[in-house]
Amino acid sequence: MIEINNVSKWYGKFQVLTDCTTNVAKGDVVVVCGPSGSGKSTLIKTVNALEPIQQGDIVVDGIKVNDPKTNLPKLRSRVGMVFQHFELFPHLSITENLALAQRKVLGRPRDEAEATGLKLLERVGLKAHAHKFPGQLSGGQQQRVAIARALAMNPIAMLFDEPTSALDPEMISEVLDIMVQLAHEGMTMMVVTHEMGFARKVANRVIFMDEGHIVEDAGKEEFFSTERCARAQQFLSKIL
Ligand code: ADP
Ligand code: MG
Repeated sequence: MIEINNVSKWYGKFQVLTDCTTNVAKGDVVVVCGPSGSGKSTLIKTVNALEPIQQGDIVVDGIKVNDPKTNLPKLRSRVGMVFQHFELFPHLSITENLALAQRKVLGRPRDEAEATGLKLLERVGLKAHAHKFPGQLSGGQQQRVAIARALAMNPIAMLFDEPTSALDPEMISEVLDIMVQLAHEGMTMMVVTHEMGFARKVANRVIFMDEGHIVEDAGKEEFFSTERCARAQQFLSKIL
């Protein structure tokens, strides 16, 4: 579903990604971890072309992402992305937040977009909040709205970039629960997170990044049970 082949990327003269290669099969949940600044956000942003790459290839569902002829808005609409800071539109109601991209990108009529939004809002347990504005919801609730908004586009895969790291501790599980449910339903997911409980529960593979390199890419059992490289070991000992 997602192929990342020998990808290198520079911000100016700074090489942020060096020869990164990994694949995510349909239905796989791949957790990406590693120290701050190791290139995790950059890597997953390259998957839906929010960041361009200078070397290598990225193919999503058979579509070459780094091809100038690729219709990027269409690609992005099929690959949902959820960020650390929910990035809801503060001046729009929850209903309008959910309907906007469906109407603008998919061309769905307003009533259909709102009905789809409401259904997904119900799924994340927030139907009663449809008329509110983002500022009236807690961080955990806003993040669940952001997930519902991404799902409303019928994505073929979902990318998460530290979706719980800006949340108060008591709100983390309400967001992780939704993500676990999605994983169990077979959604293809790439998740940057340090929530190793989540990784243990649903990940197929765990990637460890350091200084722009993918230094570990292992099955979950292998990642947690066997000796990792010294750098990964040191990192894990700090967060576990
Ligand atoms: P992570 O998500 O693992 O913390 P990032 O992908 O955000 O890492 O960043 C990797 C490195 O690239 C960091 O050193 C960061 O400062 C740098 N970086 C990130 N975004 C930019 C940018 N837009 N321009 C220049 N440097 C950047
Ligand atoms: Mg990051």
